[in-house]
Amino acid sequence: MTDTVRTRVPIVRPSLGDEEVDAATRVIRSGWVTQGPEVAAFESEFAAAVGAYHAVAVANCTVALQLALLAVGVKPGDDVVTVSHSFVATANSVVAVGARPVFVDVRRQTLGMDPRALEAALTPQTKAILCVHQIGIPCDLDSILAIASRHGLPVVEDAACAIGSEVHWKGRWERIGRPHGLVACFSFHPRKIVTTGDGGMLTTADEALAARFRLLRQHGMTVPDTVRHRSTTVVFEDYVEPAFNFRMTDLQAAIGRPQLARMSATVAERRQRADRYRDAFRDHPFFTPPAEEPWARSNWQSYPVFLREGSDISQIEAMQYLLDRGIACKRGITNAHQELAYADRSRWACGPKPCPEQSCRCLTESEWLRDHTILLPLFHGMTDDEQQRVIEACIDLAEDRGRRT
Ligand SMILES: *Cc1c(COP(=O)(O)O)cnc(C)c1O
Repeated sequence: MTDTVRTRVPIVRPSLGDEEVDAATRVIRSGWVTQGPEVAAFESEFAAAVGAYHAVAVANCTVALQLALLAVGVKPGDDVVTVSHSFVATANSVVAVGARPVFVDVRRQTLGMDPRALEAALTPQTKAILCVHQIGIPCDLDSILAIASRHGLPVVEDAACAIGSEVHWKGRWERIGRPHGLVACFSFHPRKIVTTGDGGMLTTADEALAARFRLLRQHGMTVPDTVRHRSTTVVFEDYVEPAFNFRMTDLQAAIGRPQLARMSATVAERRQRADRYRDAFRDHPFFTPPAEEPWARSNWQSYPVFLREGSDISQIEAMQYLLDRGIACKRGITNAHQELAYADRSRWACGPKPCPEQSCRCLTESEWLRDHTILLPLFHGMTDDEQQRVIEACIDLAEDRGRRT
């Protein structure tokens, strides 16, 4: 037992090396550690990498989402239509700006917002749509944006996990983050594909919005400190509105840069691993691999398998079996509306038809997915041998259970 634990295949392994050490050292020796030239370079390299017009770095993706919602005009008392089936930060960012999340269901195969549920949930109180590219799988932007434009609503993309994911757009492949909505928000948490420890990025094609993000992330200050420090004349800054300190530091930006430079190779490697899993699970009696829409290419930030309908094994039994075999795995994505934080039913609504107090009947796919998805190990730097161990454990699970029933 100790042996299998010692050699457990982890769910993710950070891939930080000498390049990141050198980058951090360079910043420390420079004497400038907060937001400065490294952040500016990271922003322009990020914009180039995803094909964005403007990129603005912040402290994490959760505050990026808050800034995006504020900047597109969401005010206290407004409704934002979003999904419950996401990391809880998605819903929390709506609450943080004083608005109410209206949860709609997702599609089972791609985990993304169901456009039909979205359209049916819109009311005059709706002021924005917050969709999610869940675990890097692009949501149906084409349909969501068509609905949004019919109703004159801004779309914010929670692209926390989607660095390097692509959608087929007007005849060519484009990376998530150009953006296709009004604003896209990315995360550099260690669970994501590029990490700065913690960190976030907003991208937009709207110059005025980008300027507003820069103002709001730094206390509403008109002249950034980097400019003041370089000036040969005395400069007084003004503070034009109450704002935040949502800055990323130069230390963080510097270690993100070499990973960003490796990002295309990272994504290619992950897609090969995902292909291998898909082939291995095609005829698995308990697990179905995720389907990919013809217009979407995931970065496979996580690799989900779904328990087949009617298979006589529970999520927890399957996970325990894999864990006993030294394979780390995770339960599927959580649903905000099933967490204690959202037990108070006045904090949220659901659509298309508001359900009675205390219960909700319109988020059935979200609830099914939480209890029938298992996330398997997939990370760049994973060895063939490690992936083979995961596959074999899943095959053994089917054989062992098959023998017993
Ligand atoms: C990770 C994640 C976030 C939060 O990102 P942070 O940078 O940790 O704040 C938000 N939404 C989704 C979908 C995520 O996966």
